[in-house]
Amino acid sequence: MSHLSVAKFGGTSVANHAAMTACAKIVIADPNTRVVVLSASAGVTNLLVALTNGVEAIEREKLIGEIRQIQENILNELKDDSRVRPIIEKYLENITALSEAASLATSPALTDELISHGEMMSTQIFTEILREQNASGTWVDVRTIVATNNHFGKAAPNDEQTQSNSDNILKPLIDRGELVITQGFIGREPSGKTTTLGRGGSDYSAALLAEVLNAKDVLIWTDVAGIYTTDPRIVPAAQRIDTMSFAEAAEMATFGAKVLHPATLLPAVRSNIPVYVGSSKSPEAGGTWVTRDPQPRPTFRAIALRRDQTLLTLSSLSMLHAQGFLANVFNILAKHKISVDTITTSEVSVALTLDKTGSASSGAELLSTELLDELRQYCSVKVDTGLSLVALIGNDLHTATGVAKGIFDTLEPYNVRMISYGASTNNICMLVQSEHADEVVRSLHKSLFE
Ligand code: ASP
Ligand code: MG
Repeated sequence: MSHLSVAKFGGTSVANHAAMTACAKIVIADPNTRVVVLSASAGVTNLLVALTNGVEAIEREKLIGEIRQIQENILNELKDDSRVRPIIEKYLENITALSEAASLATSPALTDELISHGEMMSTQIFTEILREQNASGTWVDVRTIVATNNHFGKAAPNDEQTQSNSDNILKPLIDRGELVITQGFIGREPSGKTTTLGRGGSDYSAALLAEVLNAKDVLIWTDVAGIYTTDPRIVPAAQRIDTMSFAEAAEMATFGAKVLHPATLLPAVRSNIPVYVGSSKSPEAGGTWVTRDPQPRPTFRAIALRRDQTLLTLSSLSMLHAQGFLANVFNILAKHKISVDTITTSEVSVALTLDKTGSASSGAELLSTELLDELRQYCSVKVDTGLSLVALIGNDLHTATGVAKGIFDTLEPYNVRMISYGASTNNICMLVQSEHADEVVRSLHKSLFE
């Protein structure tokens, strides 16, 4: 096992000169960090995405002006901007030309080419910031390493090709002792066009590079000092979790915690490479290690909260001793592309929760009249909204004794609409009124974690 670490810094970590300088110091302080993967400076990718839709000249100039401003703010604080300023000017010219082209006709390939500029600029500027800190970084165009298919906008890496590019190009640089600075999020398809891996794809890039380099770990530097037992904004006494498993992190992300989802780090997960999450603004505050099999594995790990839940209760007397009712219901839901989260059943009714975030980005109502009408042909339908799902995440919750009693005692004062317990060994879900959700999280946290 090598001692090599791949460090990734997110958009807020490279948002301005001070933030980038903090990142440079983190990199310099850790001799194992030999590869640095960056996102675009915060806000830049969104602005570039807006340009890809082919906007009119006035709007275009405004958006490009905002991108320029974000970069200028950093350039203006450099001690010596003479090397990097012309490079950024060139990228801004490209952005202007490409967005003019996009206003005539958009294409997925053009879109990716345009969006890739955010990471190109942040990595060039960061290389200069390192120099300002008396360190030298070697800027690498990640498209020479990360090979993908041509599914523009959400390209899938070609692992073998990426491995051989890494062996031939990246590995020799590192073996020579160079510190590599490169882009997250982007790659190149077989005919040479730029691709992107999907929004937030920089984590994936970092994990992929760690995998092909057989790295010791992936360090994800962001704006939070690790993963907490619950959202510290709701419970100030929430504690940082020092180590947790990929499976637990996945549960937390699924149930609404704003933590990194292991799916975005797939190469690290499949190759069993530990992932660290820490804050680039306060690295001394520590962080969380996410690994395959951390010890110990406490019964209670964390509490996640997901708001905006809809509860659909379907009852039918014909469900009694009948067959096919649930199959019918699920067929109808599937036909209307409704994804069901938790579910409980009784002899004559079934209650399901649906998540609003799973609905169309157009913001259309989750439950259409057509869907409800169709369901009403089979059963009576009741829709409740204003609910929140509180998920208790842990290990072997189904076999631990006294778990249910502890939870029910705590929840006694609240109106719990539904509990899902037993299907997963890793979570217990409770549906409560949204106005009580924070309180429920606080009481559960107090009784189980404090
Ligand atoms: N800059 C890209 C985005 O905003 C990739 C990333 O930040 O991971 O989606
Ligand atoms: Mg990001």
